[in-house]
Amino acid sequence: MTRTRYVCAGCDRTVTAAKSRPCVRGCGARLCRTPRRPACNDVHGGMCPALDLPDEEAA
Ligand SMILES: [Zn+2]
Ligand SMILES: [Zn+2]
Repeated sequence: MTRTRYVCAGCDRTVTAAKSRPCVRGCGARLCRTPRRPACNDVHGGMCPALDLPDEEAA
């Protein structure tokens, strides 16, 4: 099995799939699950590319 690595969109750290979760908005970004403050989920939330994109042909 290959251990896929991602870069957290909130803190730019490398995270594994087990230690991260995809952006709840579905932009494809990974966010680590560490109890860091502010939460990477919140950090990313302010700059998520899927935040207010109109539903145009999403590739
Ligand atoms: Zn993070
Ligand atoms: Zn996002």
